[in-house]
Amino acid sequence: AKTHQRGGYEYFTRSMGVEIRERVLLMHALRAAFEHQRLFVVYQPQIDIRSGKILGAEALLRWRTDDGKFIPPDQFIPIAEYSGLIVDIGEWVLRSACHELVYLRGLGYTDFQMAVNVSQVQFSHPLFLQTLNKALEDTKAPPQFVELEITESMAMKDPELLIKTLRQIKQLGVSISIDDFGTGFSSLSHLQKLDIDKLKIDRAFVNDIQENASEGSIAKMIVQLGQNLGLAVIAEGVENQMQADTLLSYGCNLAQGYFYAKPLTRADLHAWLENRPSH
Ligand code: C2E
Ligand code: CA
Ligand code: CA
Ligand code: CA
Repeated sequence: AKTHQRGGYEYFTRSMGVEIRERVLLMHALRAAFEHQRLFVVYQPQIDIRSGKILGAEALLRWRTDDGKFIPPDQFIPIAEYSGLIVDIGEWVLRSACHELVYLRGLGYTDFQMAVNVSQVQFSHPLFLQTLNKALEDTKAPPQFVELEITESMAMKDPELLIKTLRQIKQLGVSISIDDFGTGFSSLSHLQKLDIDKLKIDRAFVNDIQENASEGSIAKMIVQLGQNLGLAVIAEGVENQMQADTLLSYGCNLAQGYFYAKPLTRADLHAWLENRPSH
């Protein structure tokens, strides 16, 4: 019976095709990597363009395999999501980011804001609020310096649940930013009903800002929308001075991107912060 079963399994995996088989393998490898602490968090600084001051950082997950290869989050996050692993991994990222926030406060960076990505799967988990609350309590991270980045597409799935959950998150003192804004086609009337603090302009629209940028750029429209709704606006993926200047001329004074800093390991972040003239 055993050999038969194994034969059946092989047949099954072969028939699934390379893509799905690879995904299953990746899922097992990811679980092992998480258990063996081969995942780590990097931090990409966010800047106030006008003053040059540091606003804070976004926590981003990294996976380095045993043979030193990096697997990009765009590849493994979807796998973590459909396998449900993202619930535990996401909690661990949140806690790591909260610990780092508290550490930085101890170094004197007392205005530092820590942004953490939250997947739809985590967010709609019945214990999410409890998990968030516990992470804040255990790490002693001040909620008003923690921000959750949720994606626009989440706003589409279950609007009533979203409105309720956002309200509860806000009651904890944590703020909310809409990530990849402009890519999810959420309706404006809907947006107005959500208790959010910030819009994050997707990298694609920042990339569209070229030398001969037209006046009707999407980035500009998002900045105006944010202003009309009384929300802060931050641009991601800023790669050069021209983009930063253009964004500033639109009225967007918060930015994140390679032009300022790549995502940094903890040690690199500390060195980067200490070497800034404003410190
Ligand atoms: P995201 O949340 O939109 O994160 C921004 C991505 O843009 C990051 O990619 C960052 O490294 C990259 N980036 C930043 N500045 C620049 C720039 O100037 N130019 C270019 N070309 N890229 C820039 P990364 O770290 O590979 O993450 C990809 C995505 O994976 C993230 O997109 C996010 O959706 C997801 N992700 C990463 N960490 C987590 C996590 O802890 N939890 C969840 N749920 N998702 C995560
Ligand atoms: Ca993000
Ligand atoms: Ca984004
Ligand atoms: Ca993006």
